Amino acid sequence: MTVDVLVIGGGNAALCAALMAREAGASVLLLEAAPREWRGGNSAHTRNLRCMHEAPQDVLTEAYPEEEYWQDLLKVTGGQTDEALARLTIRASGNCRDWMRRHGVHFQPSLSGTLHLSRTNAFFMGGGKALVNAYYRSAEKLGVRIRYQAPVERLELEQGRFVAAYVGSERIMAKACVLAAGGFESNLEWLRQAWGQNERGEWPADNFLIRGTRFNQGVLLKQLLAAGADTVGDPTQAHMVAIDARAPLYDGGICTRIDCVSLGVVLNREGRRFYDEGEDFWPKRYAIWGRLVAQQPGQVGYSIIDAKAMGRFMPPVFPGVRADTLPELAQLLGLDVPTFMQTLNDYNKACQVGTFDHTVLDNCRTEGLAPAKTHWARPIDTAPFHGYALKPGVTFTYLGLKTDASSAVRFDNKPSDNLFVAGEMMAGNVLGKGYTAGVGMSIGTAFGRIAGTQAAQAALKSGARHAGA
Ligand SMILES: Cc1cc2nc3c(=O)[nH]c(=O)nc-3n(C[C@H](O)[C@H](O)[C@H](O)COP(=O)(O)OP(=O)(O)OC[C@H]3O[C@@H](n4cnc5c(N)ncnc54)[C@H](O)[C@@H]3O)c2cc1C
Repeated sequence: MTVDVLVIGGGNAALCAALMAREAGASVLLLEAAPREWRGGNSAHTRNLRCMHEAPQDVLTEAYPEEEYWQDLLKVTGGQTDEALARLTIRASGNCRDWMRRHGVHFQPSLSGTLHLSRTNAFFMGGGKALVNAYYRSAEKLGVRIRYQAPVERLELEQGRFVAAYVGSERIMAKACVLAAGGFESNLEWLRQAWGQNERGEWPADNFLIRGTRFNQGVLLKQLLAAGADTVGDPTQAHMVAIDARAPLYDGGICTRIDCVSLGVVLNREGRRFYDEGEDFWPKRYAIWGRLVAQQPGQVGYSIIDAKAMGRFMPPVFPGVRADTLPELAQLLGLDVPTFMQTLNDYNKACQVGTFDHTVLDNCRTEGLAPAKTHWARPIDTAPFHGYALKPGVTFTYLGLKTDASSAVRFDNKPSDNLFVAGEMMAGNVLGKGYTAGVGMSIGTAFGRIAGTQAAQAALKSGARHAGA
């Protein structure tokens, strides 16, 4: 029997789509590439959702109005965003949590003292793993059929319409389909091609680590690009975080992030600083540091802090390199001691004494130093000193399928009437570059829900047409 709605993917966007389609009365089959124990894609690694709100709400403090959220997005993307789709995402983030709760998601306030998120982001109790488990439970209860270890290898399309999906040689037909199979961040060969070779003859992507799932290989994205679907975004743009160089190739998750960048300085392999570590609040800047490190020789960086920074950031899973003197720290990190000391001495001398406050854009800054450190600049002078080697950690890629408010996949600027897209596969419509914490789940939730509703409508309409014929 042909299913009404086929959902391809098993993370947040897919689950939101499956639940909405089922609630709208459609029969739904969800195909997840991963085995059950690895289900949930990158969504299983998440912690929070960025939410607009006009007044304090349960776990969210103060207000975070639509306009401020929009301005934050505009700033981090440098204008590379579709305003209509960005505003749609923002508004949807203001009214999705009751629906999420109905499907078993619980929220908790943010941790204090680590990131500045208590006003803007609702945290999932138990993290993204608990969120996807709750959605799977709810989907099963509602009668959504779920298959694991079911990677879709290709789609059968007919003039922009979805006909069937292939898992191996098995042909699975459906009246409508939602694509929510993530970006191509897990595909090392594609990343290598996209980033190419740099002026030093290096292949930067060979040194990337993937923070999340190994299953987002971009197989369907690649097929749709070849089939002429309209696309958005640049293949080298991605959410990229500087993570502990000792992290595993896949699924290191949140605990390998190094969150002390804004409290100290970051040097490259040559022992030199290369960017303003205090440019803005960490949740608005952490996602550019992977890219910054990717541009450095050897794609490696070193985050250096002193005792004053300890306790002010989320501790990473592996302890850093610790030393009682700066030259000793340089040596332990394998950096050239004289260059390292020159950089640290120049920085320490340039720090202007102000009132240190990590919760505001304070007046501790450097003067006469290039690059400047514009906030939270304090001399690194108090033992013990700590250093962390950093590598680029790819979270998710932004090259995706162009869409509109209906979440339809488009061919030659014409929306498909039964093929929809949600989550990372279309996040580039809203995120041309940059990132602000929690917006990935806002996009996946907003467009997953829309895609599910639209797919159910398309399927039920086509069912009614056939019944009447
Ligand atoms: C460590 C980490 C922490 C993060 N923290 C946050 C956070 O706190 N807040 C936030 O907003 N965002 C966060 N993100 C980003 C967030 O995970 C993504 O924006 C969001 O989860 C994307 O949802 P998705 O459903 O599109 O993709 P995913 O959750 O990655 O789901 C994609 C699914 O598709 C499946 N799949 C892939 N290919 C196929 C195929 N061919 N056939 C069938 N199935 C396939 C995969 O197995 C997977 O289940 C984080 C990401 C990582 C890696």
